[in-house]
Amino acid sequence: MWIKLKTLIRQYQSLLKIAPSVAVLVIASNHFGLFNLLERSLRDDFFRFRPQESREKAIVIVTIDESDIQEIGDWPLPDGILAEAIKKIRAQQPRAIGLDLYRDLPEEPGYEKLTEVFASTPTLIGVEKVAGNRVAPPPTLQALNQVALADLMLDSDQSVRRGLLSAEDEGAVKLGLALRLALMYLEAEGITVESIDSKQQKLRLGEAIFKPLRTGEAGYRHKDLGGYQILMNWRGSSETFPKIPISEVLAGKIPPGLMRDRIVMIGSIASSTNDFFETPYSHSWFNSPPPTPGVVIHANLASQVIRAATEGRSLFWGWSVGGQWLWILVWSFLGAGGSWWAESNSQHQQRRSTTLIILGLSASGVILVGGGYLAFRGGMMVPIMSPLVACLLSTIAATNSCKQQRLELTNRELEFANNQLFEYARTLKEKIDERTQQLKIAKEAADSANQAKSEFLANMSHELRTPLNGILGYAQIMARDQQLTSSQKKGVDVIYQSGSHLLNLINDILDLSKIEARKLELYKQDFNLPIFLTGVAEICRIKAQPKGIEFNYEVAENLPVVVYGDDKRLRQVLINLLGNAIKFTDSGSVTFKVELVEPLTSSKIRFQVQDTGVGMTPEQVSKIFLPFEQVGDNNRRTQGTGLGLAITQKMVQLMDSEIFIESNPGVGSTFCLEVELPTTKSANLINPVNASNQIIGFQGAPRQILIVDHLWENRSVLVNLLKPLGFRVWEAENGQEALDYIVKLQPDLVITDILMPQLDGLEMTRRLRQMPTFKDLPIIASSADVYESNLEASQQAGCQAFVGKPIQAQKLFAQIQQLLNLTWTYQTIKLPETVTEPPSVIVPPPLEQISILYDLARKGFVDELIEHTEQLAPPYQAFAKELRSLAQGFQMRKMRAFLRKYIEAGSQKIA
Ligand code: ADP
Repeated sequence: MWIKLKTLIRQYQSLLKIAPSVAVLVIASNHFGLFNLLERSLRDDFFRFRPQESREKAIVIVTIDESDIQEIGDWPLPDGILAEAIKKIRAQQPRAIGLDLYRDLPEEPGYEKLTEVFASTPTLIGVEKVAGNRVAPPPTLQALNQVALADLMLDSDQSVRRGLLSAEDEGAVKLGLALRLALMYLEAEGITVESIDSKQQKLRLGEAIFKPLRTGEAGYRHKDLGGYQILMNWRGSSETFPKIPISEVLAGKIPPGLMRDRIVMIGSIASSTNDFFETPYSHSWFNSPPPTPGVVIHANLASQVIRAATEGRSLFWGWSVGGQWLWILVWSFLGAGGSWWAESNSQHQQRRSTTLIILGLSASGVILVGGGYLAFRGGMMVPIMSPLVACLLSTIAATNSCKQQRLELTNRELEFANNQLFEYARTLKEKIDERTQQLKIAKEAADSANQAKSEFLANMSHELRTPLNGILGYAQIMARDQQLTSSQKKGVDVIYQSGSHLLNLINDILDLSKIEARKLELYKQDFNLPIFLTGVAEICRIKAQPKGIEFNYEVAENLPVVVYGDDKRLRQVLINLLGNAIKFTDSGSVTFKVELVEPLTSSKIRFQVQDTGVGMTPEQVSKIFLPFEQVGDNNRRTQGTGLGLAITQKMVQLMDSEIFIESNPGVGSTFCLEVELPTTKSANLINPVNASNQIIGFQGAPRQILIVDHLWENRSVLVNLLKPLGFRVWEAENGQEALDYIVKLQPDLVITDILMPQLDGLEMTRRLRQMPTFKDLPIIASSADVYESNLEASQQAGCQAFVGKPIQAQKLFAQIQQLLNLTWTYQTIKLPETVTEPPSVIVPPPLEQISILYDLARKGFVDELIEHTEQLAPPYQAFAKELRSLAQGFQMRKMRAFLRKYIEAGSQKIA
């Protein structure tokens, strides 16, 4: 509860400060009378605007105006004339006669007469003035105690708003003229004054209870309040009272019954006599009415007393000081609270809050003025201006404070945000460093995982393909066995189909993994384009033949001969596209078209594969490049893996190109790609016939070559290639062994594998380079991993050249020639007259080519072997064809025997 209250207080803290402060300020101002003028003139307006009351019949005014004075010819009125007038009035038998004229001195003629009339008229009351400049009463009337006070109470703006009922003068209580006359009137009605609270001077008179004005009531201060004063409740202007000019009285023209049983007041209304005062009726918003004569004011006060006593007409009373304070405080709170609410409920919309505040203030004004008027009608003087000002001020202050508070809050938020920003900025660097470190670790982890994957792939390549080739080979051999039953044949067929499927799948997955690991690199070199294309076309023609499909090979004549690119990958791409075209075509043709994109200006070559096969819908086309995605007829799906095009596309992208497809279901498809293949002039390749000039040795002194490889198969390829040329060849199994040999033998050239147990080729090279004797020793690095990275690493270690495996003899010989500065000796083979016609006799290629082929056959690398045969020059095509047919039939043993035959023959020839 207490905590709740505390929170509430904290929440409305500024409200609790503003409202009382404003209230105190307004109360203080009120105390010094700052609002009195406003408050009173508003009340004057209320008097004028309230409905007119009936004429006061109990009081008749005998007026002395300017014309009367002129008629009589003297002012003050001579005593004689006044005596005459009083006599005439007396004759009318009024209850009381008030003479609102100062007659302290004789005004001859007729003083005696007047004294006589005074003495003989007990209902006549004369006046004196006790406040300010005193005016003595008529001596005769004073002696008879028929005198009352004519003093009027003026506010600071010289307006009469209070009536003086009685006052103490020289130790005696003297009644005001109005009260004196009213009491005489009421006495005849049997109404007399009765004190009910002598301390508070409360008096009962008929139905009315009179109380004198207290200090602070209606804004009057102590010094204003001499005597028994009450607030005037005006009956009305002079028009409210029946009047008769004194001249008419003197002329005896008093209407009968006009004055009987009434109060008659005799007074001046002539402007020259100066007996005028400001009252609510002397102001107006529209014109400027004359001030009110003193006699009319006395008549109003007498009427107020009489009507209050007889009819209970309201007397005015104002709030006590405490009540006024409270009232101001309440409105302060209302103003502050209201504007606070408006500000907090406007959702930061300035216009909405302003509208709400203006509406609230207007409503407060209406309530205060309207309520004030209603209270006024009931006889209560409710403060209006001071609470209105309090409300206005607290509204302004609270709005301001609310805005201020919001501003402060925004500022605080801004500061907080700023601090946070600063903090962020401070910690950002740390975070970046930390993150960089994390990323580095993650990268290292990913790299090592990738590395592991690559290593795994490299190993799997050998490990999986070799046994699979065995399975497939033997499946083929067994299939030829005539003694197999039909169910056994079927089984062997299943083994073969499943094996080939598995082999394809493994090859594709290996390629795809390489692509994903970004290990797939292009290994570009110069190659003979026409020979390359013929090879590709030949393979596909063989595939098309069994299906009875026409295979068209259309090659432009203006194609360059030697180009620079990755022939191995390009072949893979083309064979895949052509293979698909043949696979998905049952009748009609497959056309392989090659041409220059822009014949004269560019080296871009367009390869187009067109078929009249099943075709594809656009939706199918959009899917075929996704891995494992196969579309169309389910039967055909079993013939592939769905990986071919995914890999093909990646390779084509590596070549900075893309594959375009046009396909219509039932009509056929066209696959097209354009590859940049810069033209070069590699002498060996321009005229491959040169290659047939077989190297059989070199001129000059014999040279020693050290071959370093941990695999004897690899060493044997090199030994078989180099020994026949006259080199002295030595073999070492690893780097360490090689180092020993080199120091001992001082060879002319070292050909070293890169990856070896104990000491690898690169480390061995690095060590050699540190020995002064061997710092220029020619070293050729050789590796089956033909990645660019390996090439670079070998160069950095100090190798002068790099030869990929499987070894291409021509390339190797060229490197050796350059490093050892050799001059080769050749044996020219006689070629047949026409090279276009397939030779009927098998011409074997040079021995080094046969060695490579034998090496591939021995390892079971059928694909590479076929690839190699395609590169053989036209004169050896019969040899190549024979070998290919053996390879495609997986007749490994026959293949090896076939090759061995030529190796032996060649060796004998050289020997
Ligand atoms: P697959 O091993 O199944 O041949 P590819 O990735 O090479 O895998 O081809 C994906 C799919 O694209 C094929 O299964 C086939 O549905 C469709 N496709 C490829 N080439 C052709 C073509 N020339 N005609 C019709 N459909 C083709």
